Amino acid sequence: MPVPRMSPDSLIFVAGHRGLVGSALVRALHAAGFDNLILRTRQELDLTRQDAVERFFTQYRPQYVFVAAARVGGILANDTYPAEFLRDNLAIHTNVIDAAYRNGAHKLLYLGSSCVYPKHAPQPMSEDCLLTGPLEPTNEWYAIAKIAGLKMCQAYRRQYGFNAIAAMPTNLYGPGDNFNLAGSHVLPALLRKVHEAKLSDAAQVEVWGTGTPKREFLHVDDLAAACLFLMQRHDDSSLINIGCGRDQTIAELAQTIARVVGFEGALRFDSSKPDGTPRKLLDTTRLTALGWKPQIDLENGLRTTYDWFLQHVAPQPGANLPRVHYG
Ligand code: GDP
Repeated sequence: MPVPRMSPDSLIFVAGHRGLVGSALVRALHAAGFDNLILRTRQELDLTRQDAVERFFTQYRPQYVFVAAARVGGILANDTYPAEFLRDNLAIHTNVIDAAYRNGAHKLLYLGSSCVYPKHAPQPMSEDCLLTGPLEPTNEWYAIAKIAGLKMCQAYRRQYGFNAIAAMPTNLYGPGDNFNLAGSHVLPALLRKVHEAKLSDAAQVEVWGTGTPKREFLHVDDLAAACLFLMQRHDDSSLINIGCGRDQTIAELAQTIARVVGFEGALRFDSSKPDGTPRKLLDTTRLTALGWKPQIDLENGLRTTYDWFLQHVAPQPGANLPRVHYG
């Protein structure tokens, strides 16, 4: 039987459309002519509540579902709120995947994370290294929930024939990111810290950890483009990594950010803060073989993200940003 394809009149639900990933998906969908979107804020639809999610799906029966909703956060937030990261993420994806299947969705795309792979996986990490070793302890709660989500996609495909696919993005950044220092990932945190150091003429900026861990960063608009690509072309149970294929040390990232922001002071590494996993570069051979590649290089992506920060976040430095972000 031919697989139905997303078309301009398909009803599409983007779960988590206010987050970094969800808002990029909405931009990408509109740009590609998919305007029949159904979107709900967390106040309107709490995805951790099974009854609410079931009611929503029974009423609207979306045909295509992007699961971009998650409780997300950087190394400190993950390590500080293990129960919330595990509980909320398990609840969100269980409710959404099950309700999508029960209400006849044609297809669902679930977003995992590169932290599902073992801490000491061979680099770059291929999809096949899933569940071959222990996880990085600082984010294992989130990772366990994400692994359960991707396994749920595979199980629903196998038992019910539901066309659920799972993609594993690398570290993401871009407009709409969380710049709250207690909850954010390294890239928005350093953009903010370096910007504030420049404004106050500080002699140095504090960078957590030793600066030696390596991280790969993908602009969220590239991620959204890859998700649309996979929604239209990939229909099997194999996981697909989404990355740019290049990583750098945290020290190198901090230097690039200092250049973009125009900060000339020093970087001071605080090794009392955790480094986390030493490296997590994704092997993107599968995605490349399907015919997709990213368009936005890190320095250009940092410049546009910094512009977004200057327009949306910097004007209210004291704004009461959320402690933990929902992506
Ligand atoms: P991870 O990729 O899950 O480890 O999460 P993060 O993006 O939060 O951290 C990545 C690396 O950046 C870790 O080695 C952190 O210690 C380091 N890092 C340096 N400065 C900061 C900062 O200000 N905030 C965060 N979140 N991480 C930082």
